[in-house]
Amino acid sequence: MIKVLRLGHRRGRDDRISTHVGLTARQWGADEIVFSGEKDEKILESQRDIIDRWGGDIEIRYTDEWKKEIKNFEGLKVHLTMYGLKIDDEIENLEQEFEDEDLLVIVGAEKVPRWVYTHVDYNISVGNQPHSEIAALVVFLDRIQDSGIREEFKGAEIAVEPSKDQKLTEEK
Ligand code: SAM
Repeated sequence: MIKVLRLGHRRGRDDRISTHVGLTARQWGADEIVFSGEKDEKILESQRDIIDRWGGDIEIRYTDEWKKEIKNFEGLKVHLTMYGLKIDDEIENLEQEFEDEDLLVIVGAEKVPRWVYTHVDYNISVGNQPHSEIAALVVFLDRIQDSGIREEFKGAEIAVEPSKDQKLTEEK
């Protein structure tokens, strides 16, 4: 089981990125995405609309108690940050632990409180330069699952027919 916690959200400014964090989590097999920060039902609704049409059963919800979300999680807790240990150095340990445990992946928006760094099992960097929560999440989920791209989404009303030169879709 994979759960993603999106720490922090600034209405307006983070709308697109937060939405893409959720859609990316879904494409890479997360079972649950939890948003925190400034509450915005529109962010949750727009993702639920996409899932209704494109399928899948990822749970999408909001919490204003993100510390509890981390404390109460039973399993492997990984915070993605440019300041963390290098993913390439830790991936074997992480893969082994993920074989036996559920996984919580935490990505930030603005500055992540120090509390997070000390309440997770791993602080992991995807390169030690600042970039994007979406990029960090993709690389991490792909590596830990040895390529985690999902192809099938339960209950889809529509699916893409891969094409060399056209936009092809199939109504289910
Ligand atoms: N100073 C931040 C940090 O601690 O990584 C960068 C802020 S960035 C706008 C927002 C989020 O993207 C971070 O909270 C982190 O989850 C993720 N992120 C950015 N660069 C990263 C990197 N090199 N490795 C892992 N995660 C990264």
